[in-house]
Amino acid sequence: MDAQQAMGKLMEGNARFVKGERKEYDFLARRQELLAGQHPFATVITCSDSRVVPEFIFDVTMGEIFKIETAGNILDAVGLGSVEYGVEHLHTPILMVLGHSKCGAVTSCCGCKGEGEGNLGKIMEQIKPAGEKAEWDVDSAILENMDCVKECILANSPVVKEAVEEGKVKLVLAKYILETGEVKVLG
Ligand SMILES: [Zn+2]
Repeated sequence: MDAQQAMGKLMEGNARFVKGERKEYDFLARRQELLAGQHPFATVITCSDSRVVPEFIFDVTMGEIFKIETAGNILDAVGLGSVEYGVEHLHTPILMVLGHSKCGAVTSCCGCKGEGEGNLGKIMEQIKPAGEKAEWDVDSAILENMDCVKECILANSPVVKEAVEEGKVKLVLAKYILETGEVKVLG
């Protein structure tokens, strides 16, 4: 599957999801099939938010999306390593940063101006640049944050940067709209 086909599959699945439709999946058969190995077609960096479930949103089944899931979609070295695994080893044609409306992590960051303590503070710290750029407006900060995640990948993962530049993987920013179920691809 190439990037265009992969995006087509994701967006067709999302169109079904928006309408409340869902393909029928045979999990018993699929589980057996996947014993031979996984061949996901998209690596998705998503938020931990329990309302954002990529497999439902894109109406796909097991073994199709390789996920990195953290509050606010932020990436540390471990997260970046996981992204590299999806791109470099599983060869997914798509790498998507999937932000979403009403993101609690970004909202908190705008509320506390990026200051926080302990491990949660680390998350705030990483979203802070997006909040500052957006002058702490939550909706703008959500978009800025997705851009920051993209920049973080390109700046800190030479392997992924090269794969993007060589056209081996397409890096896509997309926002999930909680209110409608729709995924909007940005830029
Ligand atoms: Zn979120």
